[in-house]
Amino acid sequence: MESSAPLLFEVMDVLPDGAFFNPSQSGVRQVDVCGHSGFQAGPHCRVIERARVPSNGLAPCSFCAPICLNAAGERVMKSCDPTARDTAWFVMPASMQWYYRQHGGQLPPLPPWNATCRADEQEEVMAWLYPSPGEVVQRTRDFDGRLGAVVLEVGHREAGSAVFWYDNDRFLGQTQAPHQLQVPLAPGPHRLSAVDGSGNAIHVQIHVTPDRPPS
Ligand SMILES: [Zn+2]
Repeated sequence: MESSAPLLFEVMDVLPDGAFFNPSQSGVRQVDVCGHSGFQAGPHCRVIERARVPSNGLAPCSFCAPICLNAAGERVMKSCDPTARDTAWFVMPASMQWYYRQHGGQLPPLPPWNATCRADEQEEVMAWLYPSPGEVVQRTRDFDGRLGAVVLEVGHREAGSAVFWYDNDRFLGQTQAPHQLQVPLAPGPHRLSAVDGSGNAIHVQIHVTPDRPPS
């Protein structure tokens, strides 16, 4: 698994190496950190690096999560597949993953669940990036005086997933990552939905206002 250099290490590289930043001094200590998140390594972090950090603490990595895989590489629950192998995965919220990829980060997607041996709770696989729930969106005019479209945007945790877009029940279009869709939404309230190929759905209510006519 590859990841972009964690910000923490970049910050450490530019700090002066003088007396102020002497590891032997009480203000700094060496700890194991997660090679993917840069936070203090937890029990599920699989890539560990040593780093000097302030001794007043570094938050533990909350992104590496335990999962179980069956022989076919599908996620399963131990309760219904006792032969499953314990492992761990670096998992970001869907909204963070989008930004992570935009900056060149590479993350293998979470393996899919087995159809008959899966957890009940739905995980967050998609997140609205724009507009926010309840937002009042104003359509602006371009230089020619034409009303611009609204650019909808969601993040999806799995890089290859398709997203299908709806305005109330009207189909708007389909996207592959990055999931951005330009829509000339009419003034008024809208209930927008984004649905992926696995049936995961997220919704947002917004209000679109018309731009002032050009003077
Ligand atoms: Zn970690």
